Amino acid sequence: MKDAHNRVLDYLRISLTDRCNLRCSYCMPRCGVDNIPHDEILTFEEICRISRVMADLGVTKIRLTGGEPLVRKGFTDLVRALGEIPSLKEITLTTNGVLLAQNIKCLREYGVQRVNISLDTLDRQVFSRLTGSDDLDKVLDAIDTAYGYGMGVRINCVPVAGINDTELSAIAAIAKDRQIDVRFIELMPIGCGRAMRGIPSDSVLNTLEQRFGKAQECGRTDISSPAVYYSFDGFAGNIGLISPMTHKFCQYCNRLRLTADGYLKLCLQYPAGADLKTPLRQGISDKTLADIITDTIQKKPLAHSFAQQCEGDERKMVQIGG
Ligand code: SAM
Ligand code: SF4
Repeated sequence: MKDAHNRVLDYLRISLTDRCNLRCSYCMPRCGVDNIPHDEILTFEEICRISRVMADLGVTKIRLTGGEPLVRKGFTDLVRALGEIPSLKEITLTTNGVLLAQNIKCLREYGVQRVNISLDTLDRQVFSRLTGSDDLDKVLDAIDTAYGYGMGVRINCVPVAGINDTELSAIAAIAKDRQIDVRFIELMPIGCGRAMRGIPSDSVLNTLEQRFGKAQECGRTDISSPAVYYSFDGFAGNIGLISPMTHKFCQYCNRLRLTADGYLKLCLQYPAGADLKTPLRQGISDKTLADIITDTIQKKPLAHSFAQQCEGDERKMVQIGG
């Protein structure tokens, strides 16, 4: 499946819910968001059907996200059902880790081989201030458990001025003794993120080099990878820098997003896309659904323009899924 700019779109990120058990201040207001009513949320059957049609169109990788994907009841049943779509090569998830440890065995059995876990601080007080919760130990336990089960683990950290800027080396050091990649993501001006100041990747790298010595650039894992990876002497894992603000990577973007209420979203910044839920519930055929998808993707914007203007979609990050 190709868009109007000749980009192959083979990666679908599905937000399962706009609910979350944390309140990271750059993502979700402390009072929460107006949650989508239950009957407006795609059912598992609808998610599987859209996924199957997308897989037939060329999507090979699905990432489950949220809100927090693990708060969606029956999450592992969905993973098992998606695992039955033959042409999907990978099903993975991005999670805050709080509910992960108790689900790892099951996820592993259903074929999930890798997981991204978000971790912005190693300090209990900072964690509590940032997320409104005392669950840091659960997140750290989830990292150990997933790694112990032989899963590929990546840590995602968003450096934010005045919150975790003094901890970046300590967080990077998670990659020292274990083959865990630690990725630093520039804060994007989406929703609550607009009111905070992120730290540019070059500055993160500079901080890490002062602590661990010169880094070797090892590039991207593949052309559409948003992260550029670096290795440090003596580190088992790599450090990734994802720089949407300072080094745009839209040229090779291969992503589509499906929101929890069934909106096919084409770009993180812009609202362009199409409602798939309404036609689905009106009883359209798979062929018509495929036609809507292939028509819609032609409107995928060439690039975001976060650095010039914050305006775009009114959705907050918790409603998009990252
Ligand atoms: N709840 C899950 C989690 O936290 O991993 C999945 C959803 S969360 C929206 C996905 C990722 O988006 C997280 O790694 C989070 O740190 C990141 N994120 C949220 N708001 C962001 C922003 N404004 N800029 C950059 N990354 C952001
Ligand atoms: Fe929840 Fe993830 Fe947003 Fe934090 S970043 S509030 S864990 S959705």
